[in-house]
Amino acid sequence: MSIITMDVLQRDDLPFPESLPEFQKMFPNEAACAAYLERTRWPKGFVCPQCGTTGDPFRFENRTGVLRCRHCERDTSLTSGTVMERTHTPLSIWFWAAYLVSTHTTGLSAVQFQRQLKLRRYETAFLILHKLRAAMVRPDQDRICPDQGSHVEVDETMVGGRTRGEGRGVHHKVIVVTAVEVRHSQSKSKSAAKRHGGRYADRVRLAVVPDRSADSLCGFVQNVVTPGSIIVTDDWSGYAGLRGLGYEHLPVAERGDPHVAEEFLPIIHTVFANLKTWLMGTHHGVSHQHLQAYLNEFTFRFNRRHYPFNTFRSLLGIARHACAPTYEDLYSGEWKHPTTYSGVGS
Ligand SMILES: [Zn+2]
Repeated sequence: MSIITMDVLQRDDLPFPESLPEFQKMFPNEAACAAYLERTRWPKGFVCPQCGTTGDPFRFENRTGVLRCRHCERDTSLTSGTVMERTHTPLSIWFWAAYLVSTHTTGLSAVQFQRQLKLRRYETAFLILHKLRAAMVRPDQDRICPDQGSHVEVDETMVGGRTRGEGRGVHHKVIVVTAVEVRHSQSKSKSAAKRHGGRYADRVRLAVVPDRSADSLCGFVQNVVTPGSIIVTDDWSGYAGLRGLGYEHLPVAERGDPHVAEEFLPIIHTVFANLKTWLMGTHHGVSHQHLQAYLNEFTFRFNRRHYPFNTFRSLLGIARHACAPTYEDLYSGEWKHPTTYSGVGS
């Protein structure tokens, strides 16, 4: 066991890797990744989930993912309850994936990931990235709750999907509804702050909805925004019920005028532009079926954009107990990507 592995166990003083060479030093092999996982799961030392005994377990050189209790001699898998559960892929590949996904500003496509790590099969890369996306939505995700003087912009946009097996030129547009928490900058010196009159985006929530009905749009808002908040939308009738649901609703008569949108809903239009650029630039468009998973990744990265180096740990932390799809799930069409939208008025 190397000195580096011992360093990994000193978690409190452990600087998060801020570069590829640092990452390489921290996670040089399977044992180092396993030690990190063990420490993540049992910060105060191993507790056998079978018999509850504490104390250092047996570790195996050729089975790094398994710990054996010294008391009851039963094995515990380090990946159980995480998105890596029952994986045949080495832990180091998962760690690289989590690192690249969390630190690369735009994330990466399955093709890029496959090439970078020299994975033999595209399907392996595709599956790992989707499993990590499943880990990006916190089950207990709280609702957006703007501070005094802040508000929420809500609007929908159409995202072009491509559908497999229907030939070229067949496109299906999907409706994505979004809520953005808008804050006001205290500092007047920032150029970005000046651009939108000192307003900037804090957290976002995005969901695919079946239509632009009041049920769909108000249902989404109820799921993601705390009642009592100030919400700015355009004057589409689908939002008219918000006041009755306890929100301070400010509809803006947009009437297709881009200047009005720029004036009253500037932040959300910037978010839409970023989203579309990312979907096209990094992923070359995504299918309707998996769009929600990409929205989850976009949300995850956007909401953590000021803390890129904590994201990796956060991903491993959140990844615990996340329900992740198998390859069959992804292709059968049965799998439902986690979403903040859960239907009418729920
Ligand atoms: Zn035990």
